[in-house]
Amino acid sequence: MKLVYPKYYKDFKCIASRCEDTCCAGWEIVVDPVSASFYKTVSGEIGDKLRREMKTDSDGDIIFSLNNGRCPFLNGRNLCDIYSALGENALCHTCTMFPRFVEDYGGTCETGLGLACPEAARMIVNYSGDRELIFEFTDEMPLPNDIDPEDYFNLLALRKKLFAVIDDGGLSFENRLLKILSLAGENNATLPSVEQCVKMLSKLDILTPRWKKLLSSAPKEKDFSQNIKEMSNIAWYYIYRYFLRSVFDGETLSKARLCVLACVVINAYSNEENIADIAHLFSKEVEYSADNINNILKDLRNETF
Ligand code: SF4
Repeated sequence: MKLVYPKYYKDFKCIASRCEDTCCAGWEIVVDPVSASFYKTVSGEIGDKLRREMKTDSDGDIIFSLNNGRCPFLNGRNLCDIYSALGENALCHTCTMFPRFVEDYGGTCETGLGLACPEAARMIVNYSGDRELIFEFTDEMPLPNDIDPEDYFNLLALRKKLFAVIDDGGLSFENRLLKILSLAGENNATLPSVEQCVKMLSKLDILTPRWKKLLSSAPKEKDFSQNIKEMSNIAWYYIYRYFLRSVFDGETLSKARLCVLACVVINAYSNEENIADIAHLFSKEVEYSADNINNILKDLRNETF
């Protein structure tokens, strides 16, 4: 199996109790079946609490339901009680993986860091090195899949072109975004206004009061010229994470529009100091709710800018 990841991927370190957000605050953690079976066997006080807090939700998933908006195992010092009592290996798959994401393409597995973690967002948005992808070969066997190899390699080549456009210093950032849309299949590409983007985002579930407040505040009228490095990193992230998924649905345009929408909104609501923070907030709201990301990609497929 070929493993692919951005150059900065392995530099990430969770800052745990120093984190201003903590990943498990505000999210219901889905517990994978292997961890759930293990938790049922744990003895002592922590075992009793694990069994008490595991609930089955309406989708049949086992979850830790929130307690006043927090994971029941997140203690007052923002440390995880499961980690403290049983060690890192006892964390369920969701907690072990966050903020990493994985996309399987049969013989290739692409992984990366998600913007929804504030520390990962700072790394991604402020990254100054070459945005290179690293390839590694592992002993794992390719996963069975029905990916059309021709589509896959065409999309891989197209994504490479999009990466080159993002780095094209001869174009303004606005023109880079327009070219991304055109290469993804948009006829007569135009950039959306912030108002158009906010209208689309307001139809999604709002997960945090901060996001609600942000969307109802007046965006700043500004171009991208002050923050080209940061906005290029954000555009690269969205193209890397989502574009190749088009191999499953043929929807290149919705992925390119998601990248543009993210850039327009993050640019409009941030200043030079807080781009990573706004990118983190955008990601947490839009990408880390299955309903929200599915609905926005559906809307972006059906509506032109
Ligand atoms: S959000 Fe990121 S830095 Fe914060 S606790 Fe979670 S993984 Fe660690």
